Amino acid sequence: MTHPLLDLRGITQHFPTGPGQVVHALDDVSLHVHRGETLGLVGESGCGKSTLARAAMRLVPVTAGQIVFDGDDITHRPRRALAPVRPRMQMVFQDPYASLNPRLSVGRALEEPLRVHRRGGASERRAQVLAMLDRVGLRPDAAARHPHEFSGGQRQRIAIGRALMLSPDLLVCDEAVSALDVSVRAQVLNLLLDLRASFGLAMLFISHDLAVVRHMANRVAVMYLGRVVEVGPREALWRNPRHPYTRTLLAAADGTAESAASDPPSALAPPSGCRFHTRCPHATERCRTDVPVLHDTGGGHAVACHLVPPTLTTP
Ligand code: SF4
Repeated sequence: MTHPLLDLRGITQHFPTGPGQVVHALDDVSLHVHRGETLGLVGESGCGKSTLARAAMRLVPVTAGQIVFDGDDITHRPRRALAPVRPRMQMVFQDPYASLNPRLSVGRALEEPLRVHRRGGASERRAQVLAMLDRVGLRPDAAARHPHEFSGGQRQRIAIGRALMLSPDLLVCDEAVSALDVSVRAQVLNLLLDLRASFGLAMLFISHDLAVVRHMANRVAVMYLGRVVEVGPREALWRNPRHPYTRTLLAAADGTAESAASDPPSALAPPSGCRFHTRCPHATERCRTDVPVLHDTGGGHAVACHLVPPTLTTP
């Protein structure tokens, strides 16, 4: 098999926040995304999903681990030397204003990546902007208007169009539809699916909404308090969730159970051993001391739980 497009190896991210205080945002996270594949990333707010996305994009430095993009280790590559890689990995945020300058017309905003990366002459760039507006379902006259003149869904279409102007290989979507109304959300998700197919995009798709992730992803990774606890093909994970936390998440999303009984512990002082042990109904003494390793249980379905085979049957 060819190498992954994005290969995150043992990513650890600790932020000092004061004397003797360190936020353990990510600990030893390893995930990969192949070309044309969408990896969904789910977990409660504060579990490290967005930090991982920003680390993968080299927007924040990592404490340890490697970021390998298309076979190249870019973890410590100087900012200037990242220029050839940047166009190939783009990001869409929850708030379109994070990538749209409110003072720039939409046409200028879409043209800017082409100008910065010296792609084409003025008339060629103009044609590309109009083609992209059409591609994301906006009329040509949108080019002369400013972001505040559009609805939230239209602004997100503009942000998606801007992210695609350089024909990236990887699109990282961080809660990209979370702020949209349900009907608009469905339209934008279908647009993303459509663009994914026509651009051959790989996606790292982050959302707290499991239904959205199920709609979009080929594989899904579940994070809890800075660690990956389960990863596997979408349907395998939905049909047979192995980790107690994944079961809790899916049951809460289905409305068949409350969310985990208590709030998650602070990332300032994550629990020892399995970080889920303070909320897990199956926790044993071993869970309080030994960190469970993410291990493959077959078919690319990996779980980090002491009670999942080969040790014992599912809890
Ligand atoms: Fe629960 Fe222990 Fe498995 Fe952690 S390792 S999920 S505490 S059974």
